[in-house]
Amino acid sequence: MKRIVIANWKMNPQTADEAISLFRGIKKSASSATKVKTIICCPFVYIPNLARHAKGTKMSIGAQDVFWETSGSYTGEISTLMLKNIGVSFVILGHSERRALGETNEDIRKKVHSAAAENMQVILCVGERERDDHGEYLSFIREEVESALSGLQADLLEKIIVAYEPIWAIGKTDDDALSPSGMHEMSLYIRKLIAQLYDRDIADKVSIVYGGSAEPNNVQLLLDGGDIDGFLVGHASLETDDFGKILQVVNNCK
Ligand code: PEP
Repeated sequence: MKRIVIANWKMNPQTADEAISLFRGIKKSASSATKVKTIICCPFVYIPNLARHAKGTKMSIGAQDVFWETSGSYTGEISTLMLKNIGVSFVILGHSERRALGETNEDIRKKVHSAAAENMQVILCVGERERDDHGEYLSFIREEVESALSGLQADLLEKIIVAYEPIWAIGKTDDDALSPSGMHEMSLYIRKLIAQLYDRDIADKVSIVYGGSAEPNNVQLLLDGGDIDGFLVGHASLETDDFGKILQVVNNCK
């Protein structure tokens, strides 16, 4: 299996000094987790600094969003090339917190297509707000996956990591995370959707990670039973010890 752990720092921490010290703390654990690809998705303003600190390590720096146009009159936006020029190789797209601010499936489709075409690794977030007994949430996931990926050239699928993040599990405690069997079902479902859009071979190669209160206490079970390649970690990525433990578990898994 591939082993990926992505930190989503969101709009934290508040100063560059704090960002550097958090990064340094994580760097220690990441350097001993030699089998894990560790990606730190920090706020834009900290990227140049952290990219310098990441030089010579296996860690990568990621962004939390990117615009679909390459340049021009788009006040406040940042292009893929700008990110690549400062050492970014991964970007989170379609996070539920950005969708809640008004980002549509169509916006996300444009961002995914342009970032992947420009050789950026995309962490595509999908996830339902709530679960119902009739499986409506599956149609919701289908729409998010299909609208983001359809029309994407088959050879660009290797640029995509799907992060399944049920919104109801985000920002809670380890007990509130999705169950391993629930994750297993969802991995099968997401691969089926991708196989329908492309083929089974391509679908099998896409990395799928879980996000939603992944913490030191639940990651082992999710890895054992969830059919996943790793985690997207929010609040626990701001705690050096917790994030270090997660890296260790993923590193040691069979
Ligand atoms: C997230 O919002 O991407 C996330 C995984 O958050 P948390 O781990 O805090 O649930």
